[in-house]
Formats: sequence, C-alpha cells, structure tokens
Amino acid sequence: MPSLSNPSEIAREALRLLAARRMSPSPENYRALYYEIAGIADHVAEAFPEQDLKALPASLPRATASQQRLAKRFEQALGGRNWEEVQAGVAELAKEIGREQDLPWSELLGEFLRQWEGKQAGLTVARKREALERVLAGGSTNRELLFGRLQGLVKSWSLNAPVADEIPLVEPETLAAPSSAAVMAAEGGATPSAGTTSEPAAELRELFAYTLEAVITTQLGDEPELAAEARDLAHKVRTTMSRAAMDGLLTAIKRFAFRLDILAEDRGELRAGLLNLLQLLIQNVGELVVEDHWLKGQIDIVRDIVAQPLSLRSIGDAESRLREVIFKQSQLKHSLNEAKEALKQMLAGFVDHLAEFADSTSDYHDKIEVCADRISKAEDINQLEDVLAEVIRETQIIQLNAQRSRDDLRNAKLRVEEADKRISELQAELDRASTLVRHDQLTGALNRRGLEEAFGKETARSRRRQSCLCVALLDIDNFKKLNDSLGHDAGDAALIHLATVIRETMRPQDTIARYGGEEFIILLPDTSIEDAQTAIVRLQRELTRRIFLHNNDRQLITFSAGVTDFRAEDTQLSVTKRADEAMYAAKQAGKNRVLVG
Ligand code: GH3
Ligand code: MG
Ligand code: MG
Repeated sequence: MPSLSNPSEIAREALRLLAARRMSPSPENYRALYYEIAGIADHVAEAFPEQDLKALPASLPRATASQQRLAKRFEQALGGRNWEEVQAGVAELAKEIGREQDLPWSELLGEFLRQWEGKQAGLTVARKREALERVLAGGSTNRELLFGRLQGLVKSWSLNAPVADEIPLVEPETLAAPSSAAVMAAEGGATPSAGTTSEPAAELRELFAYTLEAVITTQLGDEPELAAEARDLAHKVRTTMSRAAMDGLLTAIKRFAFRLDILAEDRGELRAGLLNLLQLLIQNVGELVVEDHWLKGQIDIVRDIVAQPLSLRSIGDAESRLREVIFKQSQLKHSLNEAKEALKQMLAGFVDHLAEFADSTSDYHDKIEVCADRISKAEDINQLEDVLAEVIRETQIIQLNAQRSRDDLRNAKLRVEEADKRISELQAELDRASTLVRHDQLTGALNRRGLEEAFGKETARSRRRQSCLCVALLDIDNFKKLNDSLGHDAGDAALIHLATVIRETMRPQDTIARYGGEEFIILLPDTSIEDAQTAIVRLQRELTRRIFLHNNDRQLITFSAGVTDFRAEDTQLSVTKRADEAMYAAKQAGKNRVLVG
C-alpha cells in the first residue's frame, strides 16, 4: 500500500479499511488503522493514557516526607505528560519498598528492650509506657514511620541514661518531659540527629512550664484570670506533642507574653503614681508640721526612703525605725504629760497657799483692829496688858504662818523648777528619739539593739534564700594606749574615723554595728567565707591608707578581726561567740590580722 501523506486522504482510507476488514468502528480501531496507513510506529503513536494515570497520584500514600515527595513527583510528571519522569518515579517507588523491607527491625527491637529494661535519669516505667503508647498510636498505619518514631524514642531514652559524674539539672519527679520531648521529635518526623538535643530541650520545656506555673503565677495574685491562663499554658507546655498543636501553643504563649507586658507597664505606672502621691502627701504634711519636731523626724525618714529607689530592705528598715520612734515617742509623751500634770498641781497648791496666807493675814488685821479698839478703851494697865498679850500672840501666830508659807513657797518653787527641767529634758529626748533609737550616738553605726534587729532580718533572709551570711567582729588594737596618750576625745574621734572608713569601704548591703567600746560587727549577706575574709582584709588596707589625723599628727589605727559564716544550727549568740574567738586568736597571733573561725 502506497503511503499517504495527506491527513484527509489517510482518514478516508482508514474508514474504508475499517469497513473492508469488518472491524467495529471504535476510536481505538480507527486510530490504529490511521497510524498504520500513515506509517507511524505503534509505541510512539499510542496515546498517553492521561486520564487514568492522573488518578494514580491521588491514591498514593502521603504519610511521610518521602512519600509526599514521591506523590508530588508523579503529579508533576503526569501533569507535564513526561513519561520518562513517570518511569523514574516508579523506579524510586520500587527502591523505597526495598528499603522499607530492609529496615533493621531486629536491631531496633533489641535496643528497645535494652533501654526498656535499663535505667534512665528521670524516666519511670510508667512514663516509658506512656511514650511508647503515643508512638504506637501515631505510627500504626505506616511501618517506616513507626520505625522512625520508635528509633527516635529509643535514642532519646539512651541519651537519658545516667552518667556517673553528672547530676540531673532538675529533680527526678519534675523531669517528666524527656520522654514526651522525644515523642514529639519522633512524631514531628525529626531526623535522628534531633535526638541528640532532646534532653536539653526537655529540660527547657520543663523549666518553662515551671516558670509559668510557679514563678509567673505567684506574680499574678491580683489577676486570677491571667494566673489561670499561666497554669493552663504550663500544662500545655508539658503535654503538647503534635506540631500543629505546638504551633497553636506558641501563638497562645505570644499572646500571653503580650498581656503580661501590658500588665507590667500598668503596674509600673501604678507604682510611680502611688509614689508621687506619697511624696506629695509627705511634702504637704512636712510643711504643716515645721513646728513639731517629733513629727518632723518621722517625716524626714519616710521622705528619705521614698526619694531612693525602693527596695524591700529600705522599706523594712523604715518601718522598723518608724515603729520604734512611735513607741518611744508615745512613752516620752506619756512621761511629759505626767510631768506637766505634776507642775499644774504644784502651781494650784501654791495658789491655795497664797489664798490661805491672805486669809490668815486678813484675820490678823481684824484681830489687831479689835485689839487697837480695846487699847483705846482701856482704862488701866491690867486691861492693856491683856490686850498687848493678845496682840503679841496673834503677831507670833502670823509670823509663824508667814514663815511656813515662805518655806512652802520656796519648796514649791524648787519642785516647779525641777519639774520644768525634767520637762525640758524629756522634750530634748523626744526630739532625738526619731534618729537615735537604733543607732550609736557617737559613730552613727547601729547600736546593739539595731544590730539585733538587723541580725534577725539577715539570718531569716539567708535561710529563705539559702545564701551565705558572714559575720565579722573587729576590735581596735591597743585602743587603751591611744586613749591614754591622746585623751578620750581623740579616742572618740578615732572611733568615728573607723566607722566612716568601714561604711565607705563595705558594700551598701552590709550592716555595720558598734558592738561595744571599740568593737564593731559587720554582717555580710550573700558572701562566702573566703570573700568575707578578703573584704575585711581590704578594709584593713583602706584604714592604713586613710590614716587618722589627730591635731595634724598621723595616727595609725589597726584592728584584729574574726570572720565566720552563719550556719544552720547557729543563733546570734553562737555565731558572735565564734567570731569573737577568731578575733581573740588574731590578737594572740600578734594583732592587725583577720582570722576565720
Ligand atoms: P587590745 O589591742 O588587746 O584590744 O587592747 P585595747 O587597749 O584595745 O583593749 P582594751 O579592752 O584593754 O581597752 C579598750 C579601751 O577602749 C578601754 C576603754 O577606755 C576604751 N573605750 C571604750 N569605749 C570608748 C569610747 O566610747 N570612747 C573612747 N575614747 N574610749 C573608749
Ligand atoms: Mg575590746
Ligand atoms: Mg581593743
């Protein structure tokens, strides 16, 4: 048959042949004859079964990343009618199947059994079972997926195996997350290397949950709704495993952080507003009471405190000072009132005396007038004698009365003067009360009573925070000699000098107290015993550098010191005794040194 090239001729010939060969007139038969006449090879000419093939990728599994990639490859190959790509995809599929069959299940199961029976930090059998159940539930439809997850789980368990010299960062009970973090890594299709980071990630997860639950919640006492949200988020941080749920959780945490941020701003403004209000109040009251020395002392204390950056220490300090001032002042006011009442009564008595005296003198005048009358009417010497005797008697009585009144008045005057003096003294004491109650008057350091209070606070704080508190006891060397050679005033000035150097050399949080004559105690919070010793040695050097001048003469002052740390079983007495013994040992060892007790 001559080959035809004109398509319409080929089509006509194809129809003719269809009839001649008695073939059914289907499109396939027509197409086969058409290509036969046209002389085109069958395999090239065969139509691409596009429709049927396109349905193929839709039926492919897409559970794992590699399955998804393969399905996509088929989709693209068919979409682009690329038969070679389809072939390559099929080849890869076959390879995948082979690989899946090659999975080293026996090895994995062996390792699984070892880890199941072995011990891992923070993992109980219950937790392991829980993690395993999650893995099984998530990977039951795909053997490869199941293998990957199980492998991830076993690896995370093996990483949790305790190492001899490694201490877990968190308590075993709270280290619940490693298993769940491992499951998450496996469920998220993480690569095996993700297992190497699962332990720190789990610890971080637990720490974050703890921060939300325990730390942030306690800050939200007046915001119950936010506190409940923090607890809810903490729970989710511990239990959320799937990637999708994790995304949701991250969004919720961001929203929560934003709300916390706004709350912190609000609180900052509230605090600033309250402080302003307090300052205004203090300023106003201060102006109103310029005359009242007692109140002024208290107001000065509060004003000083609100002017500085607030801290728990300064507020506590102010409170105890105010309480003490108020107590002392109420006592003094009571004594003052008593003294004033006594004075009033004495003055009243004095007035009564005057009245009595006036009465008795007017009585005397009356009697003298009667006598004068009788004298003028007297007719003989006898009558006159009687009257004169009466005049003398009355005059003697009035003289005695006058003398007694004078003595009474003198006594009353003395008592009034005494009471007046006492009142002045009480008033002066009252004026000083606001500043001197807890402080040593000479050096301004805390006195024993102040030290006792500070000691109570510092030991409580150190116990609460489990931080180290150290106590140093200093005693000036050869102080008696200095007193004897330069005089008591020079000794006083030397004590003031030492207190100033201590205050300016030690940290603001250290407490300085005058413990006795020339002995000082320093409390050093949050300080190790080594650091405390170093700090006191530095103080020694500073005291040598800032030499004490008396009448322009340089006087070297040195001290011996004992340093010790406050221990669980200690009381103020026992720790002070240990510091004192160490100080005494320093004296014995030649003075001017610091020893640890
Ligand atoms: P040591 O080196 O062993 O400590 O000898 P010392 O002379 O420093 O010690 P001692 O205890 O024998 O003497 C302390 C002296 O401190 C005796 C006392 O007169 C004096 N003193 C105590 N309180 C004061 C004070 O307030 N002012 C003055 N000027 N001296 C005081
Ligand atoms: Mg002494
Ligand atoms: Mg001394």
